[in-house]
Amino acid sequence: MNYARFLTAVSAARKPSPIRMLTELQQRSPPSLISLAGGAPNPNTFPFQSASITVRNGQTVTFDEVTMKRALQYSASNGIPELLTWMKNLQKNLHNPPTASYSPESGQMEMCVTTGSQEGLCKVFEMLVNPGDNVLLDAPTYSGTLAALQPLGCNLINVPSDQHGMIPAALKEVLSRWHPSEVHKPGSTAPKILYTIPNGGNPTGASMTAERKKEVYELARQYDMLIIEDDPYYFLQFEKPWAPTFLSMDVDGRIIRTDSFSKILSSGLRIGFVTGPKPLVDRVVLHIQASTMHTSTFTQVRNLPLNTTQNLIVFTLNGLKEFYRKQRDAMISSADKWLKGLSEWHTPSAGMFLWMKLKGIADTQQLIMEKALEKEVLLVPGGVFMINSSEPCPYVRAAFSLSTPEQIDEVNKRINNQINTHTHTIS
Ligand code: PMP
Ligand code: PLP
Repeated sequence: MNYARFLTAVSAARKPSPIRMLTELQQRSPPSLISLAGGAPNPNTFPFQSASITVRNGQTVTFDEVTMKRALQYSASNGIPELLTWMKNLQKNLHNPPTASYSPESGQMEMCVTTGSQEGLCKVFEMLVNPGDNVLLDAPTYSGTLAALQPLGCNLINVPSDQHGMIPAALKEVLSRWHPSEVHKPGSTAPKILYTIPNGGNPTGASMTAERKKEVYELARQYDMLIIEDDPYYFLQFEKPWAPTFLSMDVDGRIIRTDSFSKILSSGLRIGFVTGPKPLVDRVVLHIQASTMHTSTFTQVRNLPLNTTQNLIVFTLNGLKEFYRKQRDAMISSADKWLKGLSEWHTPSAGMFLWMKLKGIADTQQLIMEKALEKEVLLVPGGVFMINSSEPCPYVRAAFSLSTPEQIDEVNKRINNQINTHTHTIS
């Protein structure tokens, strides 16, 4: 893989921050090292001395004074070493990427901690996307992705999808505008990156099958594209078996995967991670050096006792899947009761969203933002997930993550009422 061809001029021009390098060196050195380098404030002057967090299983996580000082101090831009080691093992256990993608030619596999997967995604896009570039994705897609991509001035090309995600034949059709032999020619307009949400897609709830992933990966090989696998709902897959991830089939080192702790441990503490070829992850880290410096050390240290004991994650994950599956079931049975005939949907097998097409409503924007709000119901009008958000869109996104089954039922009842009055008024 020639990773240089994927980098924007800005990303290629990034150089390590000398002081950040020293911080990282210091972090790896024995405590006997006397450092007058860095520019770290003295944590003895900070007002916070210790902390204790009560966990739902009765366990208490205590930060003694030493840990607290560390948690309040600057740390390495790629993440604190213990967390990185833990995450690398996790990634290897879960996805076991083919050994070829670890080879020096393809660039070794690397990881870094990010302030939520959103930070990772945004920095990955800024590393790879030039104005005028053609970028492939399956719209509707996560509005945060559109928010990060659209200002880069690229040309977003929609690859048609259905309830099983991106359709390989449709991708082939889109790519047929270019010839694989021409993609490396100077001035070629062939897309270099493809973005997709493989599980419990936001907003569609769609999950990709193993077969589709294999076909999409093969097309990415033919056209020498990178695939950005944004998978925050990986642990929210309700049905077995789980399809293998793109990362698990990455023989070339062309997958950049973003993971998130937002749906597992906390969305507010802001922590996620990027996994991909070392030459690319290193560029993301240089960007972090120059922007946030690193994800909150407190957040990372807070994750450590949870991670090293492992059982808390397992404890959380088991309950998590069951919880979201029950919420999904409540949503579907309530929708069956109130919206049959008025709306169409596919039952999601992962994630926390139901994507509904409201029959007889050309555009849900006004219905949701004005009429439904009056009735104290809030959903997201589908238009915000479209490449062109001003086009009329008959869909809405309902998140079944936060409300009780009773509240979900009440919402569907009110939507039923809304659609009936709306279609009645216009007919
Ligand atoms: N600006 C200057 C002049 C600084 O010295 C520093 C920290 N050394 C920063 C900005 C970054 O500060 P922060 O830790 O709040 O990101
Ligand atoms: N990617 C997708 C598809 C999402 O749905 C979200 C959150 O809504 C994110 C990324 C951002 O996650 P994080 O909280 O880890 O930044």
